[in-house]
Amino acid sequence: MSKTRGNLFVVSGFSGSGKGTIMEWFKKQERYALSVSCTSRTPRTGETDGVQYYFISHEEFLKRASEHYFLEHAIYVDKGYGTPAGFVEENLQAGKDVLLEIEMQGALQVREKYPDTTLIFITPPSAAELRRRLTGRNTETAEQIEKRLKRAVEEGRYMEEYDYIVVNDDLDVCIRTLDELMRSKRDPESGAFEELRVANNLEMIQLIKKDLQTL
Ligand code: 5GP
Repeated sequence: MSKTRGNLFVVSGFSGSGKGTIMEWFKKQERYALSVSCTSRTPRTGETDGVQYYFISHEEFLKRASEHYFLEHAIYVDKGYGTPAGFVEENLQAGKDVLLEIEMQGALQVREKYPDTTLIFITPPSAAELRRRLTGRNTETAEQIEKRLKRAVEEGRYMEEYDYIVVNDDLDVCIRTLDELMRSKRDPESGAFEELRVANNLEMIQLIKKDLQTL
């Protein structure tokens, strides 16, 4: 008998929203399969090829994009990022819940191909906190930080395209909420999480967008 097909989830958030740390937890869980993307950006200190990303040249990125190797791909702050299509389909068929930690343009492409995808947006509690986290991690130059903050303002416009919004105020709470939310797609016993639906948080989203303008 074939296994129940897994569910597909996209998790996005502004650079500095804390989603990288959150994903580290999910990577360790048997239930979930986390896709490793390809990117043409250079590795940060401590990053290993094949773990955080497959680091490839920009030429190779463009070649793979033209050969439809990616389920989705996008240019983010001058660098290419793409999700290998094979990994996603294989794991869904194997009954795993597949998580893609990708930005918005990619998220919308994934939903075109897999309309059942659940799109989750993670946001820090304020714009000031976003700047603080991005500056504090010391992984980007001042110029790159400014570009990423500018990008956050642009991305803020599309928050309404997502299904759920989760504020990352406390890391542990955020992880637990995400885990329960994703499980709820299979376990009828779990909560419905209506309070996290984007449609029920439009006022908060407007406030976040306004706050981002102060960056
Ligand atoms: P970073 O350079 O900080 O690792 O990632 C920059 C942005 O690219 C983040 O918003 C991250 O979610 C996104 N990203 C990572 N992998 C992919 C991918 O395969 N496709 C798309 N569209 N975005 C990605």
